[in-house]
Amino acid sequence: MQSGGILAVVETVDGVARPLALELLGAAATLQEAFGPVTALVAGHSVAPAVEHVSVLGPQWVLVVDDPQCGHPVTALMTRVVATAWDVVQPALVLLPGTTLGRDVAALLAAQRRVPHLADVVHLDGTPDEVVARRPVYQGKLLTTVRAPRTHPVVATVRAGAYRVPESRDQRARIEDLAVPFAPADQRARVTRMVEKPRGQVDLENAPVVVVGGRGLGGPEGFAQLAELAELLGGALGCTRAVSDLGWRPHAEQIGQTGKQVRPRLYLGVGVSGAVQHTVGMQGSETIVVINRDPNAPLVNMADFALIADWKEIVPRLIARLRERRGEEA
Ligand SMILES: Cc1cc2nc3c(=O)[nH]c(=O)nc-3n(C[C@H](O)[C@H](O)[C@H](O)COP(=O)(O)OP(=O)(O)OC[C@H]3O[C@@H](n4cnc5c(N)ncnc54)[C@H](O)[C@@H]3O)c2cc1C
Repeated sequence: MQSGGILAVVETVDGVARPLALELLGAAATLQEAFGPVTALVAGHSVAPAVEHVSVLGPQWVLVVDDPQCGHPVTALMTRVVATAWDVVQPALVLLPGTTLGRDVAALLAAQRRVPHLADVVHLDGTPDEVVARRPVYQGKLLTTVRAPRTHPVVATVRAGAYRVPESRDQRARIEDLAVPFAPADQRARVTRMVEKPRGQVDLENAPVVVVGGRGLGGPEGFAQLAELAELLGGALGCTRAVSDLGWRPHAEQIGQTGKQVRPRLYLGVGVSGAVQHTVGMQGSETIVVINRDPNAPLVNMADFALIADWKEIVPRLIARLRERRGEEA
């Protein structure tokens, strides 16, 4: 029987915590009453910046694994790291981010320890007897409730954007190094080189504003205006799959079921119809604004504000107004 508490696994890249991993601390904050104290496990190489950041986001304890071989995402190594922390903390709930590495490690650990695994959850709760999770199914059209008994620790991966990163506090967590007894089998796979995917000026998944162009732009040329609009709004440019399939924009900018998940403060969709495979990737946006000629387009129904118009009439005016305002402020 586990002794309780939450173990939140904070993945890092170049020593910095991944935003999605920090969202786990937002989840943990809501679950503390049901599960007990929160331990954050920060793993990677040269992770001092991540430790500093995490220590003021609410956990009681931060366990640190700072090791050159953890500088790259290797499932076997990370699984050993989390398993070691698990043995120290004896948690009731283990939270991992819904990243490629997090999903791999969660599945492997749950299988190794023969405990329940709740995958891709957007909400978690705890009763004295059960962990109750909600997860999207059928491309986000429905939410299903999944329950796991609390007779064993439960492993869960949390979907990007499901929780917010908590505000920093004055109170700092206790920080301790964790020694991990790596076995030769953990070191069979090695990362020899990391190749960055092409990306825009602002990281799409973390941008506060996302301007998305759809097939309604009529060709790749229209995207120059949208890129300018995105830049003026301090945001990133995204596209639909129709657009990336046509080769108008790179796949890295695609949002949706087979693309990126975004949850900006402002989503602006231009010439986007709002197919479910697209909306599943942006439906958590705080404010949704749409420019579309068709008043019956599904995205128009979803929008907080919709302009029923030709984008060629609206976008140049928006750009001019924003430029004017920038000039006024300068
Ligand atoms: C398995 C699978 C996975 C998929 N994954 C994704 C995914 O990850 N992301 C994704 O986006 N799609 C995905 N799709 C495709 C999805 O189903 C839609 O086909 C796609 O999202 C449509 O893109 P769109 O809105 O750009 O184009 P359209 O549906 O063609 O919409 C164009 C819109 O532009 C409007 N318009 C036209 N001219 C103008 C104008 N001058 N001014 C203003 N508005 C105008 C039209 O009224 C229309 O609403 C997937 C499909 C499948 C089957």
